[in-house]
Amino acid sequence: MFKVIYPGSFDPPTNGHLDIMRRASLLFDRIEIVIAVNPRKKYFFSAEERLAMIKEMVNDLSNINVVTWKGLVVDYAEKSGARVILRGVRALSDFDYEFELSMMNRALNSKIETIFLPTDQKYFVLRSSAILELAMFHGDISGMVPPVVEKALIRKCK
Ligand code: ADP
Repeated sequence: MFKVIYPGSFDPPTNGHLDIMRRASLLFDRIEIVIAVNPRKKYFFSAEERLAMIKEMVNDLSNINVVTWKGLVVDYAEKSGARVILRGVRALSDFDYEFELSMMNRALNSKIETIFLPTDQKYFVLRSSAILELAMFHGDISGMVPPVVEKALIRKCK
């Protein structure tokens, strides 16, 4: 069984993330979406809120499971029996960061590999932080995030 984990902050999850999740669900037997909980980082949505939103986004995809994890991603991979970390990449600037992160994870656990899926061009410019700012200024985010996320953003930004 080819199992991968797709880790991220997902604060908030976007249509770009959802596209990676959907494409991964066609490629791999099982996908675990691992919502990062880093105690040093401030999040707009709590881990529970992000979990609930992503669960609703992927509820039609039976081979996807969603969890929260307060720790190193490689440790979650090891614990869950996944050998592969999946990451999405947009521009070359993403690649720099993602490449370094993959080196770091490899140094921590050489049994775990990272693979990248390039974004679909429709989602090339979608970035959680920019969407959050747009929502705070009541901009139209309907084409950028799934309906469950749009509703949560509008509610929280009132
Ligand atoms: P991070 O884990 O660095 O906080 P995010 O939660 O924003 O990052 O994203 C999780 C993963 O999804 C990362 O691999 C990121 O590059 C990828 N990603 C983010 N936005 C998109 C997008 N629009 N299209 C494809 N992949 C994306």
